[in-house]
Amino acid sequence: MDKDINTIPKGTLKFLLFASKPYRVVAFVASLFVIAASVVGMSTPFIFKRLVDTLNGISGIGPESVGWWAAFYIIFGLASALLWRCSGFSGMRWATGVRATGREKLTEYVTGHSYNFFSNRFAGAIGNKINNAADGVTNLVQSFLWDWLSFFIEVAIGLGIIFYTNTYIGLIFVGWILFLAPINIFLARRKIKYSLAAQERETELRAQTIDILTNINAVRDYTRRSFELGRLGELITIRRNTGIKNWSYSESTMMLNNVFESLFIGGMIFTTIYLWLAGILTAGDIVLVLTMTSAIRKDIANIGKRFNEFAETIGQVKEGLNDILREHEVQDVLGAATLETSTGEITLENISFDYDSKEIFKNLNLEINAGERVGLVGRSGAGKSTLMKLIMRQFDVNEGRILVDGQDIKMVNQESLRSAIAIVPQEPLLFHRSLKDNIGYGKASATNEDVISAAEQAQAHHFIDSLPNKYETLVGERGVKLSGGERQRVAIARAFLKNAKILLLDEATSSLDSESEMMIQKALEKLM
Ligand code: ATP
Ligand code: MG
Repeated sequence: MDKDINTIPKGTLKFLLFASKPYRVVAFVASLFVIAASVVGMSTPFIFKRLVDTLNGISGIGPESVGWWAAFYIIFGLASALLWRCSGFSGMRWATGVRATGREKLTEYVTGHSYNFFSNRFAGAIGNKINNAADGVTNLVQSFLWDWLSFFIEVAIGLGIIFYTNTYIGLIFVGWILFLAPINIFLARRKIKYSLAAQERETELRAQTIDILTNINAVRDYTRRSFELGRLGELITIRRNTGIKNWSYSESTMMLNNVFESLFIGGMIFTTIYLWLAGILTAGDIVLVLTMTSAIRKDIANIGKRFNEFAETIGQVKEGLNDILREHEVQDVLGAATLETSTGEITLENISFDYDSKEIFKNLNLEINAGERVGLVGRSGAGKSTLMKLIMRQFDVNEGRILVDGQDIKMVNQESLRSAIAIVPQEPLLFHRSLKDNIGYGKASATNEDVISAAEQAQAHHFIDSLPNKYETLVGERGVKLSGGERQRVAIARAFLKNAKILLLDEATSSLDSESEMMIQKALEKLM
């Protein structure tokens, strides 16, 4: 696993740079193509002007050069279009690359979170956040290349050409940009609030939908469909209202832009006609200024929309990163050693633990010697499962130490600790994969024979063998297609296969008949 995983930057733009690292070259090439395409594209209005002036006989060159300017116009148009496509072929590698890298790194980081992180969140919501962040950085790349970069180049060239034609018109242009840009930036900053709210409501709504679908049996068994639909309906309405607020804000800013834009175009037309009447501008100049104006006008009018989209995407990525990139609660200490297991002794030294101030253990001492079989007895909710989670270091103890073979589990790396322990949880869940894959999960190198032999010891072979697809049978999401006892036996087989020094069984035979239980006890004895 990557060691640099803890250094994923949390800021949106920094994260974008981080995810772009493997695609530096292609990002550079794509940027060059965008610049070239914009430059060539912006030269066509200039050629058009020369064409008009030549037609009017102003340039003093004979009419034979009309053909040349017309040909230039066509060639430059085609060249610019081809350069845009080249920017597409290279830019897509960058855009799809950041999505892939972003998703990979975020998934890697998220799976390193503690048990607590997952108990407080819906799995579906976490998945959405990863997707939103990954899609978001892709959108940022696209908007950088094809909105912002081309925008700046076009405006710069447009301004240059207009200033070259006439200083007054140039000044009007600059004044207009200086007036509109700050207004739009200000408005876009305020918009982040609305888009963040909409995004949060969306995430919540999706999570609740998934929760209902996960519990669909309870919903039906207790005839609570209309209750759930009503509850969901409220969330849908809230989501829609935040959407309307968000969108309304965009419409208002665009409307404001439209008004300014019309004023500007009007002013431009009157000024150019006035200058033409005064003999300062030629007909070609007017064509040039007006085509330039309409080209840049679209850009400037869209600056508000683009800023809004940009702000929205930043909001989307930020929301995801804020939650996903929280510090891992349970971490390896710097330079954590690998756990050296010899006999599998477990010692609890004066441990105290509580869940958010709910005290579970206070100064508990316990010694489990090598080869010893210890059963924990306690009322429901006493903390038996919690104790196993502490030994697996799913949580850190608040006080005291847990030692495995004399080593503090806080000081060794988590992977080495967990690979020394096989656990059968109280409510084992299975992957929606074949039985073979589910049992073989206990040991990466397991052969078919290993799997079958583990299943035999766990009293699972018999029922598996009677299934039409035997070990290839898919078990349904979380293993729903198996009975409770069957699921337990699959989980036990998986733990047997792991063949670890320490075996933790959390009421692992609670759903089994006494005969299977006895057989499993026997297998356990042999195993030990
Ligand atoms: P059972 O015999 O019912 O399985 P148990 O002894 O295994 O019970 P635990 O699962 O360890 O009990 O839970 C101990 C207490 O801690 C319970 O009161 C439970 O409500 C609480 N608890 C368990 N997990 C959490 C959690 N993630 N956050 C907060 N409280 C928790
Ligand atoms: Mg329990």
